[in-house]
Amino acid sequence: MGGLAAALLTRPPRLLHRLLPGAEWRAPAAGPDGRPRLYLTFDDGPIPEETPWVLEQLADYQAKATFFCVGDNLARHPGIARAALAAGHRLANHTLHHRSAWATGRAAYLAGVARCQQLLRELDPPGPNAPLPLFRPPYGRLTWPLLRALRPEFRVLMWSVLTRDYDPGLAPAECLRLTLATARAGDVLVFHDSRKASPRLRFVLPRVLAHFAALGFEFAAL
Ligand SMILES: [Zn+2]
Repeated sequence: MGGLAAALLTRPPRLLHRLLPGAEWRAPAAGPDGRPRLYLTFDDGPIPEETPWVLEQLADYQAKATFFCVGDNLARHPGIARAALAAGHRLANHTLHHRSAWATGRAAYLAGVARCQQLLRELDPPGPNAPLPLFRPPYGRLTWPLLRALRPEFRVLMWSVLTRDYDPGLAPAECLRLTLATARAGDVLVFHDSRKASPRLRFVLPRVLAHFAALGFEFAAL
């Protein structure tokens, strides 16, 4: 793939943002203390093969992150989800079965979101002033009617840098190069704590943490 096409995939064009009005793609570029921030997000876990390793990497840098969890995995591995919460990370909703909104009926899709949220509430009961829960649609696919149905109850969080760690055709070094060349303060980065992403995730994540920590960045949960 050519350099321009690769870069466009890594940072989705702003035009895309207009297709999902009200969804969020970036976050504040600096924290209250003025330090530049990046927002690391991990989709599709939690699973024992990858998520505990991710938690160890984050702990090395006092980094906080957001885990968009698949409900099926939450139900199977609640202990890993509790470990992430105990370490100060945020858990968020990535549906029950990780089905595409373009290939699932509306009622079934919303039921999957609700069931995933119920699992999250059981793990982390929200207080009276809890912020709106976060939702990210699998594959980044959503429809306007679903977005309208979800918006009152959720912040819909997309991303501004796709690491493409899920792509077996991408060499780990190239995955890292594209991510470092693209990310800047305020970006929301997507990684995957999945078996498929593992070869790239395990190469890229420690190096992204080291690179941006050396530049004075902090890593915040959304
Ligand atoms: Zn996903």
